[in-house]
Amino acid sequence: MSRPSVAIASLGGTISMTPSDAAGGVVPRLDASQLVAAVPGLGTLADLTAEPLFQLPSASLGTAQLLECLAWAEGKIAGGARGVVLTQGTDTIEETAFFLDLYWRYPEPLIITGAMRTPLSVGADGPANLLAAVQVAIDDQSRERGVLVVMNDTVHRARWVCKSDSLSVQTFTSPDGGPAGRVVEGRPEYFHPPVGRPLASRPVRTFPKVAVVPALLDDDGDLAVAALDLGYEAIVVAGFGAGHVSFGFAEHIERLAKVVPVVIASRTGAGSTASRTYGFAGSEVDLARRGATLSKWLHPLKARLLLGALLAAGTPHQQIPEAFAKWGTLPRHSLTNQQPAP
Ligand code: GLU
Repeated sequence: MSRPSVAIASLGGTISMTPSDAAGGVVPRLDASQLVAAVPGLGTLADLTAEPLFQLPSASLGTAQLLECLAWAEGKIAGGARGVVLTQGTDTIEETAFFLDLYWRYPEPLIITGAMRTPLSVGADGPANLLAAVQVAIDDQSRERGVLVVMNDTVHRARWVCKSDSLSVQTFTSPDGGPAGRVVEGRPEYFHPPVGRPLASRPVRTFPKVAVVPALLDDDGDLAVAALDLGYEAIVVAGFGAGHVSFGFAEHIERLAKVVPVVIASRTGAGSTASRTYGFAGSEVDLARRGATLSKWLHPLKARLLLGALLAAGTPHQQIPEAFAKWGTLPRHSLTNQQPAP
């Protein structure tokens, strides 16, 4: 039987970083083929191609580069790859994975991995993560699961995965949905069957600037008002608790929601916004009445990317609540992959 083919591309990140005296710390330098060469036996698992796409710290990746990655990955699947693997910095994986998952329409898995320790550190985790990513990519059980993050022998779904520790190797968690599975003795074992997920329509314009403004103690959120003057086209409010803000912030939201889409998420890092529990000024019931959309289970960072993708696809403002109802609620096992939003 022929070996599966897996395409690997490197985008930079700690997994690729080596020391630079001039920079005063590590910087991205190694490319995909060097990362592959550092994993003994990787080439026996699959026919691998390794390409450098970018050499960036992940803080400096953006939607333009991600759309290039998407096109690259689609090309590899069209060319017969069993799966594709992107290596990148871990700082933004929770966002890049969600962004790519909005558009990834293939049954084959798109895997993202990285490292928390540089290649020259004792106990570097990059090679083990790359090995696990390829093991996940070639396994039939990984099909129909969209974009997956494989780190520390754990598989996470794009919509749930969060970076939860600044430096620990065990940084990725899925606080709401839980991890999708674990890599055990070289194979992924999944806790649940694949679930359907909505797909976004492709952008028809450049991505708008979408602000994330936190609700803070003793703050009335006038940063959200200032954002409009800076050219932001939509606002995500990272609200207190189940989606709450102060009295003053609530008044700003009422005015803003008449002009731009305003989405309320929770700044807590886990859990859904409420919809019918609290009625005080600034509560979720009050903010919905004032024209804001509740993000439900989507965390602020993911809500921001969805909002940007919806606007980039030309979605009329009045359809944004409907789209958030689709993405923000829990995926149901009975759904198959849905058609893109109009
Ligand atoms: N800890 C990050 C990493 O794992 C820092 C650099 C980056 O995100 O590119 O790669």
